[in-house]
Amino acid sequence: MNEDVHVRAERLILENHVEHISEHEREWLDRHLEACTDCDRVAGATEEAMRSLCAVSVPFPPSLASRAQLRVYLRIEELQRRGRHGWALWVSCGLSWGLGIASARYVWRGFEWAGDQIGIPNVVWQMGFALWWALPALVAAGILLIEKLREGWSETQ
Ligand SMILES: [Zn+2]
Repeated sequence: MNEDVHVRAERLILENHVEHISEHEREWLDRHLEACTDCDRVAGATEEAMRSLCAVSVPFPPSLASRAQLRVYLRIEELQRRGRHGWALWVSCGLSWGLGIASARYVWRGFEWAGDQIGIPNVVWQMGFALWWALPALVAAGILLIEKLREGWSETQ
């Protein structure tokens, strides 16, 4: 039990440096560090190590910098190429969702009326309506999936 408390404190000390911990966790940790000198020492050492890591600047060869720049440039090019291709998909998605929202009320009534005329249970025509609503998103997801598969395939070539 006691061991778990110190393990938790160490985990929170490390997490506090990588990402933010919750207010509740911070209060718990502060209380624990006031009472436990071992963990307080760990917290101090971690703080010191992080500070000296931040102060260190690592010199690297200029060729590495230009190679890194080239990679970044190529990546930006690729993203821009994809962006030009992808905008049509986003516009059509937005359009179809906008139309979907605008017409939802009428389509709902249409499904209700048709369900009533055919005499099918409410749950069936309501599922039909939900499917009609989800169809544009499913088509867009399908297109994105095909794009991803094609990309993966062309990268292996
Ligand atoms: Zn402790």
